[in-house]
Amino acid sequence: MDDSNPKRRKIPGDSAPTTADTVDAPSAGPGNGKPRPSSEVLPWPDYYMGVALLTAQRSKDPATQVGACVVNDDGRIIAIGYNGMPCDISDEVANWASPPEDDTTVAGQEAAKEGMICHAALNAIVQKRSVSVNHCTLYTTLFPCNECAKTIIQAGIKKVVYREARPEKEYHKYSRELFEDTKVTLEKYVPHRAGISLALKHDQSPRLVPSSTNFVVAIAPDSGAPSALNRARPIDQYLSYDEYFMGLALLTAQRSKDPKTQVGACVVDRNNRIIGLGYNGMPIGIDDEKTNWGKTPYGDESVGARLASKHSRCQKLILQSGITEVVYLAMPVDKKKGTPEPIKPSCLLLKSVGEDGKLTTRLRQFEYRDEKEQIVLTF
Ligand SMILES: [Zn+2]
Repeated sequence: MDDSNPKRRKIPGDSAPTTADTVDAPSAGPGNGKPRPSSEVLPWPDYYMGVALLTAQRSKDPATQVGACVVNDDGRIIAIGYNGMPCDISDEVANWASPPEDDTTVAGQEAAKEGMICHAALNAIVQKRSVSVNHCTLYTTLFPCNECAKTIIQAGIKKVVYREARPEKEYHKYSRELFEDTKVTLEKYVPHRAGISLALKHDQSPRLVPSSTNFVVAIAPDSGAPSALNRARPIDQYLSYDEYFMGLALLTAQRSKDPKTQVGACVVDRNNRIIGLGYNGMPIGIDDEKTNWGKTPYGDESVGARLASKHSRCQKLILQSGITEVVYLAMPVDKKKGTPEPIKPSCLLLKSVGEDGKLTTRLRQFEYRDEKEQIVLTF
């Protein structure tokens, strides 16, 4: 239950293209046994910044939504955060007013929300699901402020990849200096894709999502200036937890090299913290280019064939791991009839467990809001 397949040799920085990476051959696709062409797989840096951007959309800050994630040496995401009020502080009661423009002193800044708000990098680091973030890389949508810089350095993070520079204010002008003095590498994020649109709407004929056509030139999703800058963002201007988690699953699916079906999943604990992300792929150590991604003939007992029976295995694993609810976007489609496939015996395993009341795994279909049929991320 973790980032599937973030093999060391494929983490950001290792972008040496192979032949298969550079050629988007028309023949490539389902059925020929080849992995999905790299043009249809989200590159690691875009995936990590995508997670940060998606996470930012959870923020209720009326002025600035910031997201961050921490990636370890193995390419796994071990911490995620966005800017928000401390736990147990009511978002509705808190003062969300931005610091005054004409008073950039520490006192002036702290008089407003800055005195209370916990920034994305800080939240990610303190809520990490790993013992340490030592030697890790932080992806952040906004250049870290002075306070976050100190936390980042003390936590042992060695590299910061940021999407937007921060206006130079007295309050955080030291962060760049601090990073330089402590040899933390700074890197301005360079996107490989323009953006991505993640479809939350499952239409009348449910399909496996997301399709490979999900790469679009994104339009900034700015829904206009919030009505009051001293109040928390209204619900239509940030993602609900459900939307955020499904968005993460959809985004993670974009990493899959399966030519037929890209599937993503995320596991969330009772405190709404993400404790696992994964997508369908070959086991670590298996060469994607040399693997047969085609259909496995009946009776084949090879590794590939055994992997093909993964569905019921997933369900057993879900039950055994004590997961209490499974939220799904869409049922697979029966290719011949064009209608949703009937629930398979393996799915009934989950369903019956949910309904007999003895065990507590519930099966629930995700419901989208009209105003959030899709999540747009602009890289
Ligand atoms: Zn900060």
